[in-house]
Amino acid sequence: MLDHLTYTAPEPKVIQGAKQDWELVIGLEVHAQVASNAKLFSGASTGFGAEPNSHVAFVDAAMPGMLPVINEFCVAQAVKTGLGLRARINLVSAFDRKNYFYPDLPQGYQISQLYHPIVGEGEVIVDMAPGVARRVRIERIHLEQDAGKSIHDMDPNMSFVDLNRTGVALMEIVSRPDIRGPEEAAAYVAKLRQIMRYLGTCDGNMQNGNLRADVNVSVCQPGAYERYQETGDHSHLGTRCEIKNMNSLRFIQQAIEYEARRQIAILEDGGKIEQETRLYDPDRGETRSMRSKEEAHDYRYFPDPDLLPLEIEQEWVDGIAASMPELPDEKKVRFVTELGLSEYDAGVLTAEVENANFFEQVAAGRDGKQAANWVINELFGRLNKEGLTVENSPVSAAQLGGVIDLIAKGDISGKIAKDLFEILWTEGGDPAAIVEERGMKQVTDLGAIEKAVDEIIAANPAQVEKAKANPKLAGWFVGQVLKATGGKANPAAVNELVARKLS
Ligand code: ADP
Ligand code: MG
Repeated sequence: MLDHLTYTAPEPKVIQGAKQDWELVIGLEVHAQVASNAKLFSGASTGFGAEPNSHVAFVDAAMPGMLPVINEFCVAQAVKTGLGLRARINLVSAFDRKNYFYPDLPQGYQISQLYHPIVGEGEVIVDMAPGVARRVRIERIHLEQDAGKSIHDMDPNMSFVDLNRTGVALMEIVSRPDIRGPEEAAAYVAKLRQIMRYLGTCDGNMQNGNLRADVNVSVCQPGAYERYQETGDHSHLGTRCEIKNMNSLRFIQQAIEYEARRQIAILEDGGKIEQETRLYDPDRGETRSMRSKEEAHDYRYFPDPDLLPLEIEQEWVDGIAASMPELPDEKKVRFVTELGLSEYDAGVLTAEVENANFFEQVAAGRDGKQAANWVINELFGRLNKEGLTVENSPVSAAQLGGVIDLIAKGDISGKIAKDLFEILWTEGGDPAAIVEERGMKQVTDLGAIEKAVDEIIAANPAQVEKAKANPKLAGWFVGQVLKATGGKANPAAVNELVARKLS
């Protein structure tokens, strides 16, 4: 089986400055919350939206003498994610303390993996258009704890802290600087989200902060990136700025656009880019400095003495590999090569795992293209219009499959099938039974169709004369016959009969 459909890389985004052209170079550090009921080092719940401080174990609150205990399931989730990104799994990894003081981090340090991450180099194929995709290299994935939440707007004199999120497991997925434009950056995050949702390793709910990205942006002259690629030498690239904590694909794109133009203006003015951390303000559409490199924290990383190095066995990893579901790229290739779908349609159907599963139920044992057509055009079209998803679709996969079966058997025409879909949508029911009960079956009885054709011809002598002179006008008769039979006459049979009678 193909690894992926063949593709070529998109052109990098070029921004015209006042003096010259510039190219963008972008690398992302994505924080993905591990889908797990319990936290990384405690049994406390990870449930979202609970009463403040109701999901806090003693170790999350850093009570003296409490010790962290690694959650095996979270480790398995990180390994699964690594395998999904075709990455190297490190059988030995280790946890370090990243020391800093903040009220939402009662330990005074975050447990993370700096020196020995659990996952090493991998890759993600980011589709931009049919046949156009960017390969983005993954540098590493490490496991770490999330912090809690400080609340400053509840009281004029006091701040509060909610430790429910403290200690929840995060995967930090670090890309190489291989992303070359704002759309690609958004598509990259979307692809990571898609893969992790297929795997069930992250819910990918960006509004809830399930998935957030630190976006590193630099600009360089055309050709510089290619020199970096050839040599691996970062000095060919421009100095980067990091935009922290982005949780919207739209804002990621806007922030990159703004940041690139800001850097270009400085460079063309003869200035230098200072490496710094910036924040994006969506209301003003601009990034502003949060801290410069000089102010950067010295985290005094050191191996956490409370935790032994994490050793996992190759057999355990193999077991996880054996339990992997089909991933979006593989599914897409299969839809194209085995079901004959266009790459575009296959992309639409595999975008969300729930949609792909629904489509597969509709397509099972049926014509793939026809199933795709009904799912994309009729069902998705309608769901979109009404703000619904396949999970709460009024028409089930079995019902939609039933409609397609009735068309295939010749019981109903495509036009009647749309009426049937409408009935299923509003009233529900069994497609075959509805067609039977409401007399929607297509008339294939040639005698009955011929009778209708004869009646129309007899009633319209003037039209008949015109149609004999100009065969293109025969369509009018076909339309009349279909109308007279309530759309139930087999259109092919009507066409043929009309043509014969008029010739
Ligand atoms: P650090 O050593 O400070 O952690 P890294 O080299 O590991 O920095 O990079 C951190 C992130 O910044 C990575 O996602 C990487 O792809 C990105 N990055 C590095 N250099 C650049 C650059 N010149 N332009 C844009 N992004 C960059
Ligand atoms: Mg680094």
